[in-house]
Amino acid sequence: MTNTEPSNKRPAPTVVAILAAGVILAVLLLSYAARQVAAEKPEGIPALGELTITADMTLAQVAKTNQLPPQLVAKALAVEPADSQAQTAGQSLTVAGQGFTVEEARAAIIQTHALMMERQTKDFTKIFIKFGLWIVLLIIPLALLARPRLTRAWRLTLLSGGVVVFGVILGSDPSPMGTVKDMIALAGEHHVLFIPRLIALGVFLALVVFANKFICSWGCQFGVLQELLYRLNRQGQKRYGVIPLIRIPYAVSNTIRIVFFVVFTLVAFGWAFDLIGPIDPFKTYNPAAMTTAGMVFVVLLLIFSVVVYRPWCHLFCPFGLVSWLFERLSFVKVRVDYDKCIACKACMNDCPSEAMQGILLGHKLPSDCFSCGDCLSACPTQAVRFAGPGAVRPGKSMAEKLKKLRGRA
Ligand code: SF4
Ligand code: SF4
Repeated sequence: MTNTEPSNKRPAPTVVAILAAGVILAVLLLSYAARQVAAEKPEGIPALGELTITADMTLAQVAKTNQLPPQLVAKALAVEPADSQAQTAGQSLTVAGQGFTVEEARAAIIQTHALMMERQTKDFTKIFIKFGLWIVLLIIPLALLARPRLTRAWRLTLLSGGVVVFGVILGSDPSPMGTVKDMIALAGEHHVLFIPRLIALGVFLALVVFANKFICSWGCQFGVLQELLYRLNRQGQKRYGVIPLIRIPYAVSNTIRIVFFVVFTLVAFGWAFDLIGPIDPFKTYNPAAMTTAGMVFVVLLLIFSVVVYRPWCHLFCPFGLVSWLFERLSFVKVRVDYDKCIACKACMNDCPSEAMQGILLGHKLPSDCFSCGDCLSACPTQAVRFAGPGAVRPGKSMAEKLKKLRGRA
């Protein structure tokens, strides 16, 4: 389904196209420059070559033969002395003496190596700053939606600010998507769970539960970039695009997303390969780390974002899928006061996806609501609110209104 705005005041499609291209190019160039200045730690875990281990080797010999730090081998094979003592202990302790078969020793070293590398590639200071800023800055859109006072100027300012702060300055990692993707990839490839990543996922899901998908709506560095590109095309609060918009049916996009998630997980566990890694769109903020295929994919995805609402989120994102399930538990979210509702469906028509249709008609599993606020400003009677459960109670007229709405759906 496509939508074009029937207004004389709209800018020319070429202006929107040039603006969008300028934003994409600026984000890529500025991110490249920012990563050079910040000299970030390399992403990903370096591959461990084929390990040479025999049962009678000492731990020191295992380390020397495979060019591994003695501390790594000592840690993997359960020796606890301090670093300086590890080598001495390793000289007398053998693989078999420690109770390991060769295969067990190999597996233990691979797992320990993955965890150590994962820890070393993390900049924990930056991670704490980013989470702190997420929690503090998300209060602004929350307040604007609750009142509701979210103007186009506020929207563009918040989205541009999100792109610059959470993406260009603070980089591609951490991200909500990365917590789910890397957790599955690490478990599949190296059979380990990295606890800080689990904690980060817990924080992101807590934010989803607090306010409906709010971290995706206004915080995720790739989510806000897609939303900004879409908003450059979609003028005002209307559902029309200067360049015709395309709405992918929810049943289609969600089926693709579920299939993609299953395939990604099967490939991670069955073939020890991270399918998203080569095309990871969050590398938009670290272009030097992109493959050529990844760059092509990301640029196409961003161009597509001008006419399709958040294509990566709806079609592929693993966190998008998980948070879509957690949305059911959200405390603050879009709610309908059916006593005020006049069944005009303006909210449903202005929603960029099928989310408001599902919410308004009381579906059990509506499409992802990205808390964009379009439905709030569309409603002529302020029947749609972004609020907690106490603010809007099911009115006496709810059953009657639902019947009327579903009858016309
Ligand atoms: S669903 Fe979209 S906004 Fe949410 S984590 Fe994925 S990319 Fe980011
Ligand atoms: S317009 Fe749609 S996506 Fe936006 S807040 Fe309303 S229901 Fe959610």
